[in-house]
Amino acid sequence: MTPFETPETQHVDPNCIFCKIVSGELPSRRIYEDDRAVAFLDIGAWHRGHSLVVPKRHIPDVVSGTSSLPEIAPAVDAVARLLMHRLAADGINLLSSAGQAAGQEVFHLHVHVVPRYADEPGLRSLVNPGGATDDELDSVYRQIQAGA
Ligand code: 5GP
Ligand code: ZN
Repeated sequence: MTPFETPETQHVDPNCIFCKIVSGELPSRRIYEDDRAVAFLDIGAWHRGHSLVVPKRHIPDVVSGTSSLPEIAPAVDAVARLLMHRLAADGINLLSSAGQAAGQEVFHLHVHVVPRYADEPGLRSLVNPGGATDDELDSVYRQIQAGA
């Protein structure tokens, strides 16, 4: 598969929630899109603005398929900068889990892009997720969109 195939010809897993988010079958707060990747707010936010960057085609994880990480790297780069600027974050953590042993729960490749704030020093994570209400997610979504 070439990286520039259209979404219609890309591999989709009918049981995958991130494939359904990419296609629009499931709703998400989408903050970025390019020809190969989509980014949206994580519903279980560890910190304000926590987002996921996913490839448009179904790839299970970062060690599956060919060139899976380079395919979404431009999107990760753009989303990290977008969140830094629009949310006035003080830092960013990137994380991608591959396999159950690593804590992966959704088996469609994703990179967590987690804005960090000086007054919240401890990284929340898979084992201590924190979470966000719908109102909090809507609020940060509006803030990210406002600079568009
Ligand atoms: P993993 O543990 O596989 O690295 O991370 C999966 C992430 O997907 C979790 O942080 C979880 O909150 C997020 N997630 C799971 N289901 C949904 C969903 O339906 N919508 C969104 N926006 N995020 C989801
Ligand atoms: Zn998928």
